[in-house]
Amino acid sequence: MPGYDPLDLARSTEPRVYVERNRVSYRKYFRFRVDRWYGGIVTGDVVGCNLRCKFCWAWYFTWGNTDRGYFYTAEDVALKIVELSRKSGYRRARLSGGEPTIGFKHLLEVANEILTSDIAFVLETNGIVLGYYREYSEAMGAFRKRGMEIRVSVKGTNPEEFYELTGADPRFWFVQIDALRNLVEVGFEPVREVYPAVVLSMSGEEGLKKFAFVLRSIHPELPELIDEEYIILYKHVKELMKRTGLKPKYVVLPDRIPDRMV
Ligand code: SF4
Repeated sequence: MPGYDPLDLARSTEPRVYVERNRVSYRKYFRFRVDRWYGGIVTGDVVGCNLRCKFCWAWYFTWGNTDRGYFYTAEDVALKIVELSRKSGYRRARLSGGEPTIGFKHLLEVANEILTSDIAFVLETNGIVLGYYREYSEAMGAFRKRGMEIRVSVKGTNPEEFYELTGADPRFWFVQIDALRNLVEVGFEPVREVYPAVVLSMSGEEGLKKFAFVLRSIHPELPELIDEEYIILYKHVKELMKRTGLKPKYVVLPDRIPDRMV
């Protein structure tokens, strides 16, 4: 079977981006900022991912060089996010830039701190960890009905596209789908609490129809909630695609991002 194992990659990445000292968890971040997505959102960008997407917009910071960034406790992170929320007026926050489920204890602590501050929390994840370890999805269940939104970003509409886009073992595409299944089964509502995103750059509308068919077997509402993602041709993304040889059929130019993607 071709491709790397993203769970092995999560295990080898974790000690470089997550530590515990005196029972306090620290996770590495490369920046905190306010961004335009979701109509305006406060964002903490973590270092470290368990995929190597050939179109990754954050590759340089998150897996190109994990020596960058600084370690923060959940309390530090919440303070920064609350401060940016106060300054910007945005009442939504997310972790992005890498895979926030690496260093899972830290994620639970950050989510708890932010939701306690009455700021909605969006978890952007590739779903591999939540799909493989059902107990992690069950632990996330503690945040149901508290303002938690989980956006599972599926890389491609089938295992072959997943392999083309990420270079990982194609069987892990099903593990991403399992994350959606687990989260729905532990009670996250497929309206605002959990929803799928999918990278459509390899197959466009045709792939979307087949993907929707797969999701319907989990919950009839999920196909209605699909967030369509297309590779955005930032300069550094073009550079990575040239190096990895990725040739997507559909892309978006940075100055022509459709409103529905923002
Ligand atoms: S899952 Fe996200 S952060 Fe990780 S490699 Fe893919 S695009 Fe980059």
